Amino acid sequence: MTDTSPVWDRVRGMVPVSLCDWPGRVTCVLFTGGCNLRCPTCHNAALAWTWKTLPALSRETVLADLRRRSRWLDGITLSGGEPTCVAGLEGLLADLADTGLPVKLDSNGSAPGVLEGLLRDNLVQSLAVDVKGPWAMYPQLTGQTMTEEGARESLGQVFDLARRHPGRIYFRCTKVPALSDADLHATRVQVPEGLPLNFQEFVPPRMEQDVA
Ligand code: SF4
Repeated sequence: MTDTSPVWDRVRGMVPVSLCDWPGRVTCVLFTGGCNLRCPTCHNAALAWTWKTLPALSRETVLADLRRRSRWLDGITLSGGEPTCVAGLEGLLADLADTGLPVKLDSNGSAPGVLEGLLRDNLVQSLAVDVKGPWAMYPQLTGQTMTEEGARESLGQVFDLARRHPGRIYFRCTKVPALSDADLHATRVQVPEGLPLNFQEFVPPRMEQDVA
């Protein structure tokens, strides 16, 4: 069923200052609820799957806070959940652009067409896209919500997008316990040469109170 909630109703978390969500930048992180995948090691399970149980944030309060702090921030990270699942995402990004701060969006890479539109319309400055592991492990790594073929197809399109937009997209792989050293190597190899891939440590899931 299509979710018709107003777009700001999907903003269900905020970390006022982060030094690690956009490499080299101090950002405020906003989180949208909802995700199309079911990764067993999800870092934000409440946001991804039961986001309606979390308190919504006020559009006016968040935008006023961002404007007030814009001199001390280098940007905004929009994370989730999976922001590309949010109906009306463009309106949310337009609101964020009005603060004068650049936006980086985190994505699982399952909606390359949406990502292409965001770059084309300059609604984001940067994209961080997950490569969860070797293609063959996608069913296991995503709780059977993404097939090997689906991962190859979607991420292949995002790789093409990254070649067409140099410096705008980087890829991330989280070293979840299911990935061996050989799996990490296979993940590196399947990302085309020249495209940036950062490996990040697996950390315990973010607690709800950290993002509310
Ligand atoms: S894609 Fe990200 S938010 Fe969605 S289930 Fe997987 S880890 Fe959680």
